[in-house]
Amino acid sequence: MIAYTYKEGLYLNITNRCPNRCTFCVRQYQDGVGGHNLILKEEPTIAEILAAVEEYPDYDEIIFCGYGEPTCRLDVILNVGRELKKRGCHLRLNTNGQGNLINGYNIVPDLGEVIDYISISLNAQDAETYHEICQSDYGREAYSELLHFIEESIKHISHVRLTVVAVPGVDIEACHAIAEKFQIDLMVR
Ligand code: SF4
Repeated sequence: MIAYTYKEGLYLNITNRCPNRCTFCVRQYQDGVGGHNLILKEEPTIAEILAAVEEYPDYDEIIFCGYGEPTCRLDVILNVGRELKKRGCHLRLNTNGQGNLINGYNIVPDLGEVIDYISISLNAQDAETYHEICQSDYGREAYSELLHFIEESIKHISHVRLTVVAVPGVDIEACHAIAEKFQIDLMVR
């Protein structure tokens, strides 16, 4: 399934790829969320994604997500995003913050052209904990790059939020302190 609704938003499932293997990731034990099967046989094209959006004309907030990490398909975010911005849509990106590593350059200025609201998974208070919980393909470098991605997002995107999942080993207070240092919100899930 490419597009599905949840609460007030229309979610676009654009990829199943992800460089992380988070211990809490729902993909390990189910094929989707909310009764929607989100396993993609093939990644959808830009035209297929725009066609899927057409089926839900009443949703003003559209969220790039995945059953995976959406910045694995940066070209899709930018091209679909530009088209949806022309239609006046409010666009959100849910990301693990590894997009600069995935794409090999600082993608945030480009994202800032189309994304109004970015929700970034902080997931840990330090690099070692992040490495244990998120098991990124990029190893221990992933966390410092994640912090850099957050800094860049604050410069280029109007609304930035962090999230963390309360699992053993995560120091929620320390995560709040990081969010406070950046002067942005933290949502605990
Ligand atoms: S970053 Fe998201 S999609 Fe990737 S493994 Fe972690 S929870 Fe799953």
